[in-house]
This record gives sequence, structure tokens and C-alpha cells, in this order.
Amino acid sequence: MNSFSELGLKEWIVKQCQKVGIENATPIQRECVPQILAGKDCIGCAKTGSGKTLAFALPILQKLSEDPYGIFALVLTPTRELAFQIADQFQIMGKPIGLRQTVIVGGMDMVQQGMDLSRKPHIVISTPGRLYDHLGSCVTFSLKKIKFLVIDEADRTLGGDFDEQLKRIFDALPEQRQNLLFSATMTDSLSKVRQVAKKEMFLHETKSEVATVEELKQHYVLCPGAVKDGYLVQIIRKFKESHPRGSIMVFTNTCKNCQLLSMTLKEVGYDNVCLHGMISQKLRLVALNKFKSNNVKILIATDVASRGLDIPEVQLVINHSVPTVPKEYVHRVGRTARAGRGGDAVTLVTPNDIKLIQAIEELINTKLTEYKTDEKEVSKIFTQVSVTRREAEIKLDETDFFEKKELNKRKQFMMEGKDPDEEMEKKSKYKKKLRRQKIKAAIKARTERKKLREQEKPASSVADS
Ligand code: ADP
Ligand code: MG
Repeated sequence: MNSFSELGLKEWIVKQCQKVGIENATPIQRECVPQILAGKDCIGCAKTGSGKTLAFALPILQKLSEDPYGIFALVLTPTRELAFQIADQFQIMGKPIGLRQTVIVGGMDMVQQGMDLSRKPHIVISTPGRLYDHLGSCVTFSLKKIKFLVIDEADRTLGGDFDEQLKRIFDALPEQRQNLLFSATMTDSLSKVRQVAKKEMFLHETKSEVATVEELKQHYVLCPGAVKDGYLVQIIRKFKESHPRGSIMVFTNTCKNCQLLSMTLKEVGYDNVCLHGMISQKLRLVALNKFKSNNVKILIATDVASRGLDIPEVQLVINHSVPTVPKEYVHRVGRTARAGRGGDAVTLVTPNDIKLIQAIEELINTKLTEYKTDEKEVSKIFTQVSVTRREAEIKLDETDFFEKKELNKRKQFMMEGKDPDEEMEKKSKYKKKLRRQKIKAAIKARTERKKLREQEKPASSVADS
């Protein structure tokens, strides 16, 4: 007997799963699907790559097939690429019932989106910012009848960046609805998450000592900041020799560094695409599609790509810079070793990052092991790589890459009848405030974890000492 039918899912859904090679439910699906079908609100917390998307998509599709109308469900995600990915999964699984879904994200044609929404799609998958804009302009659609609100990557979506937008969105939703919240790192924001639903929720949390998946091997390379790029190239070179078919994701902390790394790697012979917030949405999608379809095997990205993306070919994640928020590490390295497959993660650590790495190791409850790199080989390529990077910097300055982006943003504010100076300042103040809040929250969470751990220590250890 197929375990999906044991969960109360109809034959057509079980068949559709089989069609795409999915036979047995994962633990989070086994736990959450029956509860969602029974009408409960649900918080699902399970590691990266454990099948959270289908845990909410399948029961929603079943309920929709029983009473089809639009707009039936709203799915919120923190990033645009993730919204498209979730829409793809809904589309595949919902084919037998002629599912109509639409993606509403920034950087795409707003007029077209307005028309799509007015056609009452069954499912709307959206980032909070753009949906907020639609709700503020002439509204040709209603969210007042939705049965389901899904918040994917709930800790990030509810993490503060979108507070203003979420308020307007929640006001547009009916009181009576099912709330489904999912993430791999929910524990520290659970109280906030609970506020969304108010009523009693079913909470599924995969209990585990270690926050990352077992199949993932996690390493670090200690190196001075100035030679990081040399090490990066050497790690890529070595990996490509041993895994000619595998894909690599490289994460870095800023858009500028992302662009520069991409240009540098291209110049030294490594074809790649890059994904960050300063390129147009169309180019972002083109880049990601090239990577997903295996035409290009290296993707350089900022944290816009750290959440949710599911690309089975990714066998190595390199952190060119250590993420400043420890739990983002869990998500970045979670882009590999998905759905039971293996994978590697290598983090470049400079002497300035030691504290951050300790905080990460404490959070994941695992020690990273040292990754052996041949320093002689690094020194051989170092000069070429650093000269290439310098040239890339000059090229980037000449093209006014970032000024152009700022100019476009200013133009957009002017078209909206706003004062561009004022808006740019507001934006930067808001970003600074968020950063401060995030640091405060991270410190608070860390202290709380420490306290908890101390409380959990057996009494004998006090007596022993
Ligand atoms: P998460 O959201 O937990 O990080 P996803 O929902 O993106 O994980 O799923 C990760 C991968 O696992 C996807 O490629 C998905 O198709 C696959 N998958 C989902 N459910 C199952 C299952 N029951 N059996 C096998 N593979 C599955
Ligand atoms: Mg997911």
C-alpha cells in the first residue's frame, strides 16, 4: 500500500506523485498531511530538503479539488525565485485538476499581474512586497475567501523585513482560514509565528541534535582575507576534477562581491552565472534557469538564493564569506545534500570570522572539519586570480553598474510621485534599523539557548564540581 493513500490523499494525487517518481511520504509529510486535511493549522519544522513543499501542497490540492474556486490559497515566500519554484511544483501536481496558479513578485509587469489576479487563479504564490503593492492600488481581486494561508520559510518571511507589508496583507484575509507555516529554522521565532494563527496549532518538529542533514559533509578552510579568491578557485578546480557532473553554489555577502566574483571566475575560465538583488528580475530568472538546466555548473549568489531553492545537481556549497546571521548558514549549506542525497560544504574562514564560525558551530551542534587544500597550488594561481579581480573591479567601476541601479530606483520613486532623496534615505535608515534588530535578536536567542542548555545539565554535574 502506498503510504500517501494511507495519509488520506485521493487516488489522483497518489498517482500524480508516482508519475514524478515519488512513492513514499517523508516524515514531515506523514505527520502534517493528515492534520492539514483534518482542518488544523500547522507549523512544520524539518531540515532542508525534507519535502516541506509537498507537505502543504498536496492537502491544499485535495481540498481545492473538492470545492474548486479562486482564490483558494495564498502562499507567501521571502524570495522571488522560490515563489516560481513553488508554483512549478503546484503546477505539476495539480495538472489532473486543471490547476491555475499565478506568481506575483517584484520586478515583473504589474499590469499583467493585475489581469492575472482578476482571473481568479486557484493559487497565488507571492512575495509580500509586490502583493502589498497590488492591495494598495486599484484592487480587482479579493483574498477574502481564501481557505489557506501558507508562509514558507516562515522565520524569514515573518522575520521583520516585511512587517509593514504583512500587516496590509493579513488585513485583506478572512479570519476563518487555515494557516500553514514551514521552515527548517523556526525554533527561535516560534512565538511570533504563533501570533499569526492565534488558535491552537499542530506543531511538527523533527527532533534532532544537529541542525544540518547527516548526509552533508561540512568543512572549513582557514585563510587570510586577501587570498580568499585563490582558495576559492583552487577548491572549485579540485572539485571539478573529482565531480565532473556536479554543480556548485558559491555564497557571498554583498551584491558587489557577487558580481566581482562572477566576473573574476569567468575570466580565469570558469563559466558561471550570478544571482543577486542588483540585477533585473528577468536576468535573475535567466541565470537561475541556466543553472537549473545544467547548462552552467557554477552559481554565485547572495542570500537571495539561500532559502528553499531545490536543485538536485548541487553537490558543493562554498561560503566565500561566512554568513553574518548564523542560521542562514543552515539554509545556504542546505542547498546541497537534499532528499537523502550526499553533498559537501566548504566555508572560507579568515581570522576575523572565528567568532562567527563558533556561533554557527554552536547553533548546528557540529564541528566543521578542516578541508585540505594544496597551498602550493594556491600560491601558483594567486597572482593571476588577484590581478583578474583587480581588472574586474576597474571594469565594474567603469560601467557604473551600481550607480545605474540606484538611478533606476530613483526614477521609479519619481514616477510614483515620491521624493527620491527622501525615499533613498528612508530605505537606508530602515535597513540599518533592521540590521540592528537582527543582531539584537541573534544575541538574545544565543543567550536563551545557553540558559536552556545550562538548565538541562544533569544535577550530578553540579554536585561533582
Ligand atoms: P524542503 O522544502 O523541505 O527544503 P522540498 O519540498 O524542496 O524540501 O523537497 C526537496 C526535494 O525532495 C524536492 O526535489 C522534492 O521533489 C523531493 N521530494 C519531496 N517529497 C518527496 C518524497 N516523498 N519522496 C521523494 N522525494 C521527495
Ligand atoms: Mg522549502
